[in-house]
Amino acid sequence: MISQRVRTIEPSATLTLNAKIQELKKSGTKILNLSVGEPDFPTPEFIRKAAMAAIDDGWTRYTAAAGHIEAREAICRHVERTRNVQVDPSQVVISSGAKHCLSQTLLSLVDPGDEVLLSAPYWVSFPELIRQAEGVPLPVLTSARENHRLTPEMLEKQLTPRTTGIILNEPGNPTGLVSSAADIAAIVDFARTNDLWVISDEIYESLLHDGPMHSPFSYDPERVALISGLSKSFAMTGWRIGWTVCNQELAGAIGRLQSHNSSNACTVSQACVAAALDGHDHPDLQHMYDAFRERRDLMVDGLSKISGVNFSIPGGAFYIFVDLTERLGDGGVADDASDFAIRLLEQHEIAVVPGGAFGVSGCVRLSFARPQTELRQAIERIQAFLA
Ligand code: PMP
Ligand code: GLU
Repeated sequence: MISQRVRTIEPSATLTLNAKIQELKKSGTKILNLSVGEPDFPTPEFIRKAAMAAIDDGWTRYTAAAGHIEAREAICRHVERTRNVQVDPSQVVISSGAKHCLSQTLLSLVDPGDEVLLSAPYWVSFPELIRQAEGVPLPVLTSARENHRLTPEMLEKQLTPRTTGIILNEPGNPTGLVSSAADIAAIVDFARTNDLWVISDEIYESLLHDGPMHSPFSYDPERVALISGLSKSFAMTGWRIGWTVCNQELAGAIGRLQSHNSSNACTVSQACVAAALDGHDHPDLQHMYDAFRERRDLMVDGLSKISGVNFSIPGGAFYIFVDLTERLGDGGVADDASDFAIRLLEQHEIAVVPGGAFGVSGCVRLSFARPQTELRQAIERIQAFLA
């Protein structure tokens, strides 16, 4: 009964694990949840107030399929300020979260059998979304030792005549990768030379711990589709607002697709786009970004004192991808990363995501979107487990 297309799709490992942990928590188990990637801060009050006023002001009907013009104009201002590129509202499509943007952008770019390059470890949903568009994911393995650096030479090795595009994701999930300007320029050059489109998922764009990021969109706005949204940078995961900024032809295609499959993103949530983006330097937001930087420092400091635990220091987002291969297998603390995650949960009440979900074995992802007291406890318990 179920279509071939959907039959083989795995549920999102991160969301499934999070749902299980919420259930366990309800039954009284005190779990330190370092699994899901979701800010633990409330949506800032100035944004909530904008939403409440919008309901009274009649932001309660359908908008244009691509999004309300005032919200798209705010995104244009934001892109000009942060990527130094002038864009027109006709190049912007607002959708129900960055995931929805990725899904529709891939459906608009990928033909059956097209191959799409992506670096591994990758975020769980990328391969499934490529397959949903009947494309073939081509992971390019990066290593913690090389700070997960992705180079044109590595991409070249996987390139075939069927390769049509690349997915980039910075700051990266699960590694926190933020590449140098030179590395981004080289990858965009590689895409141009080989006539590949680029999807650049920048959903963690404001969560930067060591300095600015370098958006591929700034290097080639014709070729690159920039995807971002309110979920992570504004603590608005439940509001479901994402956007794709790209050339007019692609934006038109995504808008047509969206006009049939969801009409428009939630109008009340769209009413917050201008308030959020224009309020980017609001103290509530700066406080949250500072807290994430401090947590990053705490995690790096704590984990670097444990032997056999290797990772590259995340420059952005709120994840650390830890390589445990030295501590697994014969004579180790667990058989493999899944076994490690199960034991950590059962014996020490800490939830982490095994690296298999991100296409890499021997590793686990820790999310530090939790208060410092919980992170300290988690590090102590992990240290005890590995001692
Ligand atoms: N891209 C990445 C890399 C993510 O980690 C997430 C997290 N959910 C998303 C996209 C989806 O974001 P949204 O909640 O806006 O759909
Ligand atoms: N992106 C977050 C994560 O990786 C949220 C869950 C999801 O959308 O997969 O944990």
